[in-house]
Amino acid sequence: MRKNIVAGNWKMNTTLPEGLQLAKEVNDALKGVDAKCDVIICVPFTHLASINGVIDKNRLGLGAENCADHVSGAYTGEVSAPMVASTGATYVILGHSERRQYYGETSETLKEKVKLALANGLTPIFCIGEVLEEREAGKHFEVVKTQIEDALFDLSAEDFSKLILAYEPVWAIGTGKTATDDQAQEIHAYIRSVIEGKYGKEVAENTSILYGGSCKPSNAKALFAKPDVDGGLIGGAALKADSFMGIVEAF
Ligand code: PEP
Repeated sequence: MRKNIVAGNWKMNTTLPEGLQLAKEVNDALKGVDAKCDVIICVPFTHLASINGVIDKNRLGLGAENCADHVSGAYTGEVSAPMVASTGATYVILGHSERRQYYGETSETLKEKVKLALANGLTPIFCIGEVLEEREAGKHFEVVKTQIEDALFDLSAEDFSKLILAYEPVWAIGTGKTATDDQAQEIHAYIRSVIEGKYGKEVAENTSILYGGSCKPSNAKALFAKPDVDGGLIGGAALKADSFMGIVEAF
């Protein structure tokens, strides 16, 4: 059975003291609830080791927001998958649209990142999604299929089964404009069918597919009620413990 998951993506927000405070608040809030989903926070590299020391990892998973496409060496400013893993983090967001858009990440680089993440025991939260013009041109199905095929389909079924996918329509990220629950269901079901075509029904049924894009406490319940929406990747609303918890409690 696939898992329901709510994962926060803090992006480039919070100083270390602010991040520690937020992580502690989420960690404490989780003590008081019977969460019906796995809860993860993905935080800046600078915060990983410190946050790892203040949260209960049985309740709250910890991840990075990226990792390098090389294992070590002369790549000034990069942070490798083994470095991330050495902080205690066990997840990593890969292929976020902001990385694709602003830092030129391609399926070729992402392929390497996914392999290195998996080889170092990290669970990739792999993001896919179309831009507005592609949606308006009716190309969203084709776009997500190509993103999956190009970066992930050389993985073995065993390795593919370790991934979490996040469908994030770029036009909904940070815009306040959310995909409707029917739009999310339609494309999540399609993504699952693409996975089934390559890896078979069992792998497809066991893959968690999260929705991301202006998800908040007020719309999370309807989105998560859809059969192929297995949770959310949350940006803005993950920066306050109460709104993040409001989404966690939507399950
Ligand atoms: C994201 O960046 O992954 C995201 C979903 O952002 P937001 O929730 O702010 O739209």
